[in-house]
Amino acid sequence: MTEAVYIGLGSNLAEPLEQLHEALLALAQLPHTQLRAVSSFYTSDPLGPADQPRYVNAVALLDCALEPLTLLDALQQIELNQGRVRKAERWGPRTLDLDILLFGQRLLDEPRLRVPHYHLQARAFVLYPLAEIAGQLRLPDGRQLDDLLAACPFVGLEKLSDSATLDLPHAR
Ligand code: ATP
Ligand code: CA
Ligand code: CA
Ligand code: CA
Repeated sequence: MTEAVYIGLGSNLAEPLEQLHEALLALAQLPHTQLRAVSSFYTSDPLGPADQPRYVNAVALLDCALEPLTLLDALQQIELNQGRVRKAERWGPRTLDLDILLFGQRLLDEPRLRVPHYHLQARAFVLYPLAEIAGQLRLPDGRQLDDLLAACPFVGLEKLSDSATLDLPHAR
């Protein structure tokens, strides 16, 4: 059985656009997984420390037959492969962040994995790209994506591109 899994991508170091393109290729190559859709790319104001570059963000839709923790392991490996360094500072700059936003209709509350992502409703850089590819989505806890969007102004966000970005040339 496959489930619809939405992944939030973010980068603000070392050529963020390239980081996202590379991450999308890696997502497409995950076992038992297909990359189904990718939102536009956006730039966003950083969360947390303000003395860091703006982020580039997008959301991807996977059809995934992996177990959630297996997928999380794989996502964290992709982050490491792309030079992510874990620092003490919360929300500091990073080459790549891959968050599981939604995993089918599952509600998970494990030490390593909370789904839906706990801060989804507060983040324009998650909700707007998610809505682009998810449409009228009802979250497993009953919330409607439309309602979350209506309560989250389009602030600090700039849309970069409309088109699917999967066929852009890659430097590496
Ligand atoms: P935030 O979680 O607020 O977006 P962050 O992405 O910077 O902050 P990280 O340092 O990337 O946080 O992740 C910290 C831990 O969060 C990870 O080691 C992971 O185990 C845990 N985690 C819990 N829920 C999720 C989820 N839905 N997706 C990804 N990681 C999660
Ligand atoms: Ca695949
Ligand atoms: Ca995050
Ligand atoms: Ca993360």
